Amino acid sequence: MRATEIIEKKRDSLELSKEEIQFFINAYANGDIPDYQASAWAMAVLLNGMSAQETTDLTLAMVKSGDTLDLSGVVDIALDKHSTGGVGDKTTLVVEPLVFACGLPVGKMSGRGLGFSGGTLDKMESIPGFRTDLSKEEFLTQLKDLGLVLTGQTGDLAPADGKLYALRDVTATVPSLPLIASSIMSKKIAAGAQRMVLDVKVGVGAFMETLEDGKELAEIMVRIANLAGRKAIALLSDMNQPLGEAVGNALEVKEAIAVLKGNGPSDFREHSLVVASHMVLLGEAEDSLEAARKLAEEKLGDGSAWERFRDLVDAQGGDLSYVDNLEKLPEAQYQENIKADQMGYLAGINARIVGETSVSLGAGRAKKSDPIDHAVGIMVHRNIGDKVNKDDSLFTVHANDQQKLQEAMKRLQEAITWSESPVEPLPLFYGLVE
Ligand code: URA
Repeated sequence: MRATEIIEKKRDSLELSKEEIQFFINAYANGDIPDYQASAWAMAVLLNGMSAQETTDLTLAMVKSGDTLDLSGVVDIALDKHSTGGVGDKTTLVVEPLVFACGLPVGKMSGRGLGFSGGTLDKMESIPGFRTDLSKEEFLTQLKDLGLVLTGQTGDLAPADGKLYALRDVTATVPSLPLIASSIMSKKIAAGAQRMVLDVKVGVGAFMETLEDGKELAEIMVRIANLAGRKAIALLSDMNQPLGEAVGNALEVKEAIAVLKGNGPSDFREHSLVVASHMVLLGEAEDSLEAARKLAEEKLGDGSAWERFRDLVDAQGGDLSYVDNLEKLPEAQYQENIKADQMGYLAGINARIVGETSVSLGAGRAKKSDPIDHAVGIMVHRNIGDKVNKDDSLFTVHANDQQKLQEAMKRLQEAITWSESPVEPLPLFYGLVE
């Protein structure tokens, strides 16, 4: 088999066989297929799509590219969550310790920023010393001893996805339904998840912009989970406007901690409680969604989730003085407000523009090798539907470079759309796929 033939087939919208997919993925993971051929193939998949069978074959080929974890001797129910990626989506930072506080161990492997969306690992690395590179043995030991782990995908689990994910980030090949579904599900299956809550983001700040596409992605992922003998539910959640106020790594850590301490923006808090409740139900700590919600509210309210977050940071080498004294976390040199230049109702706060602006300030990567600036980002002070007066603060830009600051100030003006008449606030969720 030759890589060029497989690229040509996808370019011409033909269906790839299981063997062809397996060959391509294996050879890419081994280094026999170079990045430029994998980029061309990924672009052909993005443009021409894949059948449900091809997507399942791709997922299983990526699982087979490395080891798989069997967590059956480590936890009773291997529980997990995954978001398809959004702007200001720091949900894992709250949900993981919260679900653990509800009595369910969670060992999670997360990713880095992708395109305009942020990544949990980049956020957690704002805390000096916090390790996101645990080995498989360290992952298993910590899950058994503490019950809570948050680390990067170890190199030997679905290594083909690790490589392809980083390549897609810089080749404009992220927003493809089969590539996203297989990327997420290969990681979850390889990492041993038996039951999972998938948070499928929908809107201008998500890889799936329409509810229809989001639903299709959710259905494909739930089907792949079932085919692999796992159980998954998918929530369809809004990503037209950023979630919460903070966008940018250290800013998001601060906001997650605020929620863990009982404060923080109500949309982000509510979103976290809904995701956590579904995990608590799926993990059988309670037998109804209402009871799961009640337990999650209790554990958020009594400080136990916050204590579990501290345990997690401590266990992975993070300096606790930074989470206890948030002013020690990285702070940008320049902080400038953007004020409303008119009065009216906010009809749009384009999450994609906010995400892209945050990346261009340095919070994400333009190239695979780019470093992250943990301090920079954007605080979004308003929500869609708010009535705003002239000179009210809309955004605060946190920057470490004057030119980038000025560019961001200009770009963010484009994120806002106004209405003279009242605008309905957006829902947090659009539905559930089981
Ligand atoms: N999250 C992933 O893990 N993979 C994708 O492709 C997109 C979001």
